[in-house]
Amino acid sequence: MSHDDGLYAPATRAVALGRPERHPGAPVNVPVTFSSTYVADGEVSYARTSNPTWEAVEEVLGSLEGGRALAFASGMGAVAAVVGLVPVGGVVVAPRHVYNGTTGLLDELRAAGALSVRRVEAEDVSGTLAACEGADLLLIESPSNPMMELADVPAVVRGLRERYAEARPVVAADNTFATPLGQQPLTWGVDVVIHSATKYLAGHSDVLLGAAVVSPERPDLLERLHTYRSLRGAIPGPMEAWLVLRGIRTLHLRLERAEASAQVLAGRLVDHPAVERLRYPGFGGMLSIEVAGGVEGAERVCRATRLWTHSTSLGGVESQIERRRRHPLEVETVPENLLRLSVGVEDVEDLWRDLDRALT
Ligand SMILES: *Cc1c(COP(=O)(O)O)cnc(C)c1O
Repeated sequence: MSHDDGLYAPATRAVALGRPERHPGAPVNVPVTFSSTYVADGEVSYARTSNPTWEAVEEVLGSLEGGRALAFASGMGAVAAVVGLVPVGGVVVAPRHVYNGTTGLLDELRAAGALSVRRVEAEDVSGTLAACEGADLLLIESPSNPMMELADVPAVVRGLRERYAEARPVVAADNTFATPLGQQPLTWGVDVVIHSATKYLAGHSDVLLGAAVVSPERPDLLERLHTYRSLRGAIPGPMEAWLVLRGIRTLHLRLERAEASAQVLAGRLVDHPAVERLRYPGFGGMLSIEVAGGVEGAERVCRATRLWTHSTSLGGVESQIERRRRHPLEVETVPENLLRLSVGVEDVEDLWRDLDRALT
């Protein structure tokens, strides 16, 4: 199967791509290539530039998103590389609510005088467009972490092209929550998709990896991100890449179950007496609830669950619950009593009983 064989459905490509060439006796899985150097006069000379195991995961992820993927050491490695596209003194437009590591990075760069940041509301298309005047980079995260707000990405991209033409900023979308099976931002005209592959793509809470997937229309950005990765050493290990590749093989199965269960849970949580507000965008396996009893009430729920683990991160086979404001980096507009739920692949009735009991 070739890299650009778009005839197959995403589930098939998730399973079939990134395999060694088929010939009698060949392994069906790509080997984990542990080598820092290569014999001279070949295409590759040193492993900070490329590695066959990364290339396999990049092939699959690139195909699923519809672009060219570059694997990074973690999701933040990919975010930092994309922010690194901004020249010194440049302007970044970012929503008020994004992953708190992204907020932390932007705050630090701003404090160092490296760039300035304009904050916008994710759902406000005209406000976002106005803020992009003279900007170098627009960051999008939809659904947003942990507020689950949706941005109208096609309308934003269209508006930018109409209003600013060539002078528009680079548009990057963090697609960690939706995964390429939920939405493909490159098809809406976004330039770069960012992933924390640590989450759904890997899917087992056992590895960190990130990726940037670049639009086929922006080979210039692909080259700059590749150079960034090589020169900053923001590279994943081959074993990590292999684990993520193995995770992607079952992404569609895990996500299908997580989404079906999240829909059941959302339907019940919305009427639960201990839930003040449900935030569920209608798709995917992530939801947030604001619970009665303020900080203490929320902390109590996290202590009371047995099946749901009170832990950070998301997208694993095991269900997780977290009070996001326990992190100092989380912005103050995220309610103190907000719990973020990552629905795993356990039996949904077991998940409901555990949550219902903890809430009550
Ligand atoms: C976790 C996360 C990141 C950071 O990824 P790491 O792999 O932890 O470095 C970035 N964006 C979103 C939306 C995330 O959830």
